[in-house]
Amino acid sequence: MSSVAIVGAGFIGMASAAWLMRDGHRVTLFDPSGIGQGASFGNAGTFAHYACIPVNNPSVFRDLPRFLMSNDSPFRLRWGYLPHLAPWLARFMMSSLPRRYEASAGALAALLGRAQEDYAPLLADAELANFVRLRECLYLYSNAASFDSARPALDLRKKLGVAFDVLGADDIRTLEPALAPIFARGVLFTDSWHFSDPQGFLQTLYERLAAQGLALERSKVSAVQPSADGATLTVGGTARRFDHVVIATGARSAEFASQCGDKVPLDTERGYHVRYPGASQLISRPVGWAERGFYMTPMTDGLRVAGTVELAGFSETRNRSLVDLLTFSSKRALPALGTPDSDWLGFRPTLPDGVPVLGYSSASERIVYAFGHQHLGLTLAGVSGRIVADLVARRTPPLDLTRYGATRFR
Ligand SMILES: Cc1cc2nc3c(=O)[nH]c(=O)nc-3n(C[C@H](O)[C@H](O)[C@H](O)COP(=O)(O)OP(=O)(O)OC[C@H]3O[C@@H](n4cnc5c(N)ncnc54)[C@H](O)[C@@H]3O)c2cc1C
Repeated sequence: MSSVAIVGAGFIGMASAAWLMRDGHRVTLFDPSGIGQGASFGNAGTFAHYACIPVNNPSVFRDLPRFLMSNDSPFRLRWGYLPHLAPWLARFMMSSLPRRYEASAGALAALLGRAQEDYAPLLADAELANFVRLRECLYLYSNAASFDSARPALDLRKKLGVAFDVLGADDIRTLEPALAPIFARGVLFTDSWHFSDPQGFLQTLYERLAAQGLALERSKVSAVQPSADGATLTVGGTARRFDHVVIATGARSAEFASQCGDKVPLDTERGYHVRYPGASQLISRPVGWAERGFYMTPMTDGLRVAGTVELAGFSETRNRSLVDLLTFSSKRALPALGTPDSDWLGFRPTLPDGVPVLGYSSASERIVYAFGHQHLGLTLAGVSGRIVADLVARRTPPLDLTRYGATRFR
């Protein structure tokens, strides 16, 4: 069996480790932050198999100007970042044209269609499965007009096989009585579920795999390059050779791709969460608020309110107005909420067409890419890990990977 290095220990790296170890490989993870400390740490925790509509969709032409000008918009752009972002943004707008967006939605739906089945090896024992909460996700619209404008996207979801029920105001109150009576329409996505503690799940998965031989090195990788019958990583100035390398560094993957001859327009959609300790009993399932761009998810350590999109690069400086928006809006939705005790900023890895990169690098088939999972990295972890393992083993993956290749941006 082969030696495989995985760079990055988020949902994608960990799922890749689980699948690769099933094949009997000797796997080493590299991550200076440890397990699940990147975007995977603070997400909304939802297994969103229904989320095949990418952010790049025709509604951006209608909504973007209003979003960029409004103070209570969940979508922000830091103007100082615009010169850097412009090429990404131009591609993003092009990807929002109807035919291209439908192609992205189709590519996502194909992955999402396998997402549940391919999660199975990650939930292999009772303690891991215990992190799963089997409750459908409720997505709400406070304004009937916004629901009407979401109709075409719902129709496309249906066409792509997503099951859901449309609810009125009374149905919503019956399902979640603690919600304020401000929601006109809702969509209940059946067959979805959420994690009670996403990082806790990854840590437990790591402990399981470590007991079977998975190694973790808390070191930053600075370079990757192909070498004879394998690939070499530069770690702390030292060259380390492996038979295969997997690049799963989320939003930080573009530089590694560039070292392998692939110029990928990867940027980040920043997102935030606030936590309300002791408030997870207020709702019984994840509840999203469409116009405000967030989910409220009951978790072990409290109610997590996670979402928003900010195009502002990798600066660690938080936009307090987005944290305030999450706080204000969640209290409007759930009047019994108290005061949040913490907030968090994470960096979603996003390509302008909203489709992840899964495939071999141009430099060598010994280097496999798995990054760019935007709002869906938790959901797509299982299928991505499975594809990584298939590529390493040179098995035929369950999907044609052409539309997920890094070379699509040439
Ligand atoms: C607010 C918010 C809500 C979200 N909600 C959901 C949701 O409900 N459902 C869902 O499916 N997805 C959701 N997501 C998206 C999801 O969290 C991401 O898509 C996913 O975490 C990406 O996983 P990853 O493993 O690719 O990246 P990450 O989790 O970011 O992991 C990458 C890792 O690479 C490491 N790394 C970086 N550079 C190096 C280097 N040079 N050497 C070694 N290691 C390195 C980092 O330390 C990091 O740990 C949400 C995201 C946000 C921000």
